[in-house]
Amino acid sequence: MNVYMDNAATTMLSKEVYEKMQPYFMGEYGNASGIYSFAQRSRKAVEDARQIIGDAINAKSSEIYFTSGGTESDNWALKAVADAMEEKGRHIITTKIEHHAILNTCGYLEKKGFRVTYLDVDSEGRINLQDLENAIENDTILISVMFANNEIGTIQPVKEIGEIAHRYGIIFHTDAVQAFGHVKVDVEACNIDMLSASAHKFHGPKGAGFLYIRNGIKTGSYMHGGSQERHRRAGTLNVPGIVGMGEAARIAVEHMDESIKYETDLREYFIGKLKENVPHIKLNGSSSDRLPDNINVCFKYAPGESALIMLDRKGIYCSAGSACTSGAMDASHVLLAIGMSEEMAHCSIRFTISSDTTKEDIDYVVENVSQIITKLRAMSPLYEHYVQETEKQ
Ligand code: PLP
Repeated sequence: MNVYMDNAATTMLSKEVYEKMQPYFMGEYGNASGIYSFAQRSRKAVEDARQIIGDAINAKSSEIYFTSGGTESDNWALKAVADAMEEKGRHIITTKIEHHAILNTCGYLEKKGFRVTYLDVDSEGRINLQDLENAIENDTILISVMFANNEIGTIQPVKEIGEIAHRYGIIFHTDAVQAFGHVKVDVEACNIDMLSASAHKFHGPKGAGFLYIRNGIKTGSYMHGGSQERHRRAGTLNVPGIVGMGEAARIAVEHMDESIKYETDLREYFIGKLKENVPHIKLNGSSSDRLPDNINVCFKYAPGESALIMLDRKGIYCSAGSACTSGAMDASHVLLAIGMSEEMAHCSIRFTISSDTTKEDIDYVVENVSQIITKLRAMSPLYEHYVQETEKQ
């Protein structure tokens, strides 16, 4: 049996999306910038996708710009605002738990002379709105706070963040790569000025994404070259990718309510079963403001990296609370930011489900997780000591 539980890393392309994309690889391969009818059919398909995506976030289609994915959208948002606004100010606010597409772009901007405030988060991964307001300076040009976290699934108070940003006349960007297609996203209701998303996170193709830029927001060109994307992002459009992303967005919006319910019920079933079957575990992140598909659990004193290898042998695919940097395993910056020790961060596993996941999948995973964690803990003298200490209390 194989169970894929790494949907936050990427999702399977849906069959309808695949079918919708197919004609644009061979038959309809025209360049969407051409003026003859063959090319205009590609243009029409691109504009239809732009409309679907605009509608999905309550934006105008003219505010949607196609990119190669979340990383590019994040880079574009931050660098282009910094470039266009540096006369006004050189201060940016973000959080300690952003994806590296944001954190490393901020690092790059710091080298260019910008100042960046990295907000702390609480033990569930939420920023404090008062901290945000206190961090605002006279020359703050941008607030970039992710909609939902990719590791622990915590959803930020985006509407309130947008209100604060607009009260001070600051541009608000949100990395919605994990949120778009999974929960409702409304740029008007939340005062969002810029928003990043990526198709492969919601059953669309890899290598396609978009950046929403509210009309009137000043940003220069990101990619220099031809006049595509209203002179802001040059390069021949990835027509099959854009068509696929549009179809994936259409399906996600159409089934949003039922998939939120299905995944939330399954997530709670999973958490309940884990609690029943595996002692000494802790759910990382929030139990209320959480993406429906995310389950991130600390199995105290059982190393997550070893558990992943053992789960892989059982056909179960998921992620650990650590990242491989230059050959060494570093504890996740997100888990450290919510106050976990390095040791416990290394004992955490992220499972991310989808509407294709079933109760049988969960039962199979829980059974194997339970056995594997027991085996790993049996090798840990620290676990034995921990159990003795907790029993004394
Ligand atoms: N932002 C977040 C929150 C993500 O989870 C990811 C990918 O995991 C990215 C950005 C980067 O997206 P992409 O893989 O499309 O470049």
